[in-house]
Amino acid sequence: MTLVSSDLARAAALLQQEQLVAIPTETVYGLAGNIFSETAIKGIFEMKQRPLFNPLIVHTHSLENVSQFVREIPPKAAQLAEAFWPGSLTLVLPKKNTVPDLITAGKDTVAVRVPNHPITLELLRSLNFPLAAPSANPFGCISPTRPEHVQQYFDGQLKMVLDGGACTQGIESTIVGFDKGEPIIYRLGAIAVEAIEAVVGPVQILNKKEHAPQAPGMLSRHYAPNTPTFLVDNIQEFIVQHPNKKIGVLSFSETVAAPQVHALQLLSPTANLQEAMSRLYAAMHTLDALQLDLIVAQRFPDTGLGKSINDRLQRATKGKY
Ligand code: AMP
Ligand code: MG
Repeated sequence: MTLVSSDLARAAALLQQEQLVAIPTETVYGLAGNIFSETAIKGIFEMKQRPLFNPLIVHTHSLENVSQFVREIPPKAAQLAEAFWPGSLTLVLPKKNTVPDLITAGKDTVAVRVPNHPITLELLRSLNFPLAAPSANPFGCISPTRPEHVQQYFDGQLKMVLDGGACTQGIESTIVGFDKGEPIIYRLGAIAVEAIEAVVGPVQILNKKEHAPQAPGMLSRHYAPNTPTFLVDNIQEFIVQHPNKKIGVLSFSETVAAPQVHALQLLSPTANLQEAMSRLYAAMHTLDALQLDLIVAQRFPDTGLGKSINDRLQRATKGKY
């Protein structure tokens, strides 16, 4: 049995014993282990069935602490850390030798983040090592945003989920790397491109087609429900084209009614992108559990957080069917 509990001391003790604990962050729940423990880190890759070439994000409690793991922080990285930490921004920086190769998949850079969740910050402050914490789901599946999602994925395999309630951001962090000091967005995420540009000026978004994936979040199929899922501009039209199916609808702000619509997840009745983002994965989990024939999601306005939501919906709907 996997215990869902808010017992911080127990979580810390397990981590000190090189075991894994699922931890809450404001983005999604992470499957956490001591970055210096080979046992723990191999355990993360095994439990998630994650390929070893996918590097992990190092989570720590402060910018000051990051200098233990990185060789240099370019000025624009420092500005971004200052603006967004603790928060949903991951910085990819040149690593020191102290960071094990298993964490970085042999790269000479390391991804670091200070998450913005009070319980996890307290946990990180109580430990004398940082935590690697990829999303607490089997590789390729929908990320968990509530303790029960983690429990469903790993019941019996994991001793403890540290209960921090529902994630307030609800999608993964935005990952930013640097080339000659200039920021490049490796993965869209919970901080909008526009918010980053407001701090450091125009940034490039890595073109997936031209580059090999730098981050598994960039693999074309990821974050996917088991139910065949489609992303469309016009939900009504899609429904009419599928008259004999049991359909689940994932809609931004508009209600949809038709006999074939068996479930509707309305992400934000007031059309608030932040609210829609925070509910996205939980809605996908809910629809995926209903044994529907199809899930259809509405494309979001392609600006601000809508761009990040569309990125996840695209990956959830790519290929396979
Ligand atoms: P996850 O925690 O599963 O959302 O994944 C963490 C993300 O950070 C993955 O997409 C990693 O590939 C990415 N990442 C970690 N280290 C690096 C690195 N050195 N360079 C580029 N991306 C990285
Ligand atoms: Mg993940």
